[in-house]
Amino acid sequence: MAKTSAHAKGNGVKFPLTFLAAVLEKNKAPLALREVVFKGPLARGQVLARVRYSGICGKQIEEIQGSRGADRFLPHLLGHEGSGAVVAVGPEVTKIRPGDRVVLHWVKGAGIDAEPPLYQSGGVRVNAGWVTTFNEYAVVSENRVTKISDDADLEIACLLGCAATTGVGVILNEAKVEPGESVAIFGCGGVGLMAVQGARLAQATPVIALDKNRPSLDMALKFGAQLVVDMSREDALEKIRAVTGGRGAQHVIVATGDPKVIELAAEASSVPGSVFLVGVPPAGAKITVDPFRIHCQRTLTGSFGGGCVPDRDIPRYLELHETGKIKLDAMIVGAIPLRRINEGVSALLSGAAGRWIVKMDGESA
Ligand SMILES: [Zn+2]
Repeated sequence: MAKTSAHAKGNGVKFPLTFLAAVLEKNKAPLALREVVFKGPLARGQVLARVRYSGICGKQIEEIQGSRGADRFLPHLLGHEGSGAVVAVGPEVTKIRPGDRVVLHWVKGAGIDAEPPLYQSGGVRVNAGWVTTFNEYAVVSENRVTKISDDADLEIACLLGCAATTGVGVILNEAKVEPGESVAIFGCGGVGLMAVQGARLAQATPVIALDKNRPSLDMALKFGAQLVVDMSREDALEKIRAVTGGRGAQHVIVATGDPKVIELAAEASSVPGSVFLVGVPPAGAKITVDPFRIHCQRTLTGSFGGGCVPDRDIPRYLELHETGKIKLDAMIVGAIPLRRINEGVSALLSGAAGRWIVKMDGESA
């Protein structure tokens, strides 16, 4: 096929563009590493980014496992927290320019909500959403990229696509935690650990972290949790009540989708008090709650990405990291090249603590 030149503003990128991507072809199976083609040109509001780093988030584990039911988009690209640089922009994109360093995120920010791109691999159509990050290049919607400073550390910046903005955001934007208020965080994966950091930043006390996985609790302690509860052998409600004068925590954050944990967490708040559901439950799950407590003003609220406003929060949280108020680097426990992404997925499935990240042009851990 003759190569055509791009109808894009930028550095003269040539389409079709071929690059490596991890493709979800089948649930409960390893991701397939494929050469994927974007034919071009960029459509209105689309941005071509060279992805440098991507986090592996619990959401992708759910997609791989198929826990939300039948996936009608297979085969498709995935990943929703990344960092990189803009290569070219499509018509009417005004927010960013080629060369800009950006965070790729799933929550909508300012800018055009463009059509999701279509890719091909071996002549087969490969679907993608408005943002994907398990790929060397990504065609993303203008409203899913946010510019960061030219000297920002891209390795840590990928966490601002989801884990950091969701975890810190649920504390600051949604729960609006005040100094001296009690916070209990169920589930200490990437988002839960960032919520622990957010709670310490907000000067909450006590900050209680709960999980079944000891290494995750050790990280929570490192990030400032004042009490950790090993849910595999300790009574969560008893422990929380013991340090909150029997009342329960004023703010309960549920960073897991496990319905049993959600049920337990819903009992853990004070009355009045608030419970925020951050983790995504499996399709069709049901929980039982005590309606009298709801009547007495215990609120059960869903968190949508920590109430993140990307254009406001991403630069703000990056500054919190740069001034040492939150620690993004300490969240990263391993970096692997894209070709070995399935090792990171397996690590998460087997209960690794902290965030594994994918380094697109890296060869070693
Ligand atoms: Zn995520």
